[in-house]
Amino acid sequence: RIVYVNGRFVPFEEATIPIMDRGFLFADGIYEVSAVLDGRLVDNEAHLARLDRSLGEIGIRNPHTIAEWTRLEEELVTRNNLREGLVYMEVTRGVAERDFAFPPEGTPPTVVMFTQAKTVSANPLAERGAKVISVEDLRWKRRDIKSVALLAQVLAKQQAAAAGVAEAWMHEDGFVTEGGSSTAFIITEDGRIVTRPLSTALLPGITRRAVMRLAEENGLTVEERAFTIEEALAAAEAFFTSASAFVMPVVEIDGNRVGGGQPGPMTRRLRDLYLDMAKAG
Ligand code: PMP
Repeated sequence: RIVYVNGRFVPFEEATIPIMDRGFLFADGIYEVSAVLDGRLVDNEAHLARLDRSLGEIGIRNPHTIAEWTRLEEELVTRNNLREGLVYMEVTRGVAERDFAFPPEGTPPTVVMFTQAKTVSANPLAERGAKVISVEDLRWKRRDIKSVALLAQVLAKQQAAAAGVAEAWMHEDGFVTEGGSSTAFIITEDGRIVTRPLSTALLPGITRRAVMRLAEENGLTVEERAFTIEEALAAAEAFFTSASAFVMPVVEIDGNRVGGGQPGPMTRRLRDLYLDMAKAG
């Protein structure tokens, strides 16, 4: 397995980060994840645009152009013979003596990339449908930044794992914000696809955007508004989206069946539309 660290492709076993890295000490960094299908990156320009935005919002200069990032990702995919899975990219504010304020001008950011082989298209969970639990959203107020400070999500997703379910839907002031690592959707009895509008309360999901576009292109109605867990429990269908789960049907929330406990027809259609788009490249 070959990984990328600060300009070099090296065997995984040889890749190290100094203990003074600000990603390690302060979670002072951001990350991005793109899916790989048939050896090709899925919707990657949008992921790289979000990576650039995340860096800008926390004042780290982007160490690479979009073209350079793309070339590095493609080389990593090739070197690992990756057909299907993920490319993970992380940029931190670099290595410096521990001090909260930014390090001296010119401190180079740390850049790390690795691949993970994973079945993303023929995922058996998508056939059965995923169960989720609801948990309070304990995160900070800039969730639009894809920060590596993920402790609240670690705890939420551990609660989900302990409950034997796939995801935690986080809520705040009575409304669902998003999943621990995904965007939450419901479909109403009259067939409207509902998801929360973008704000600083949630990450602007790249898969969310693609699914909304595909839905609209196929004559489906998308409504951007916040919804409650109660509304999700009464919905005709529910699902979540992410670069790694694509479109994942939700069949149970907090032990209550949703949509008869089966992946719903509109969710299946959206998953197929997304897979077709992803495979077409
Ligand atoms: N929300 C959160 C909190 C996430 O971590 C993710 C996964 N990166 C998403 C939503 C889904 O985003 P995307 O579709 O870009 O993977």
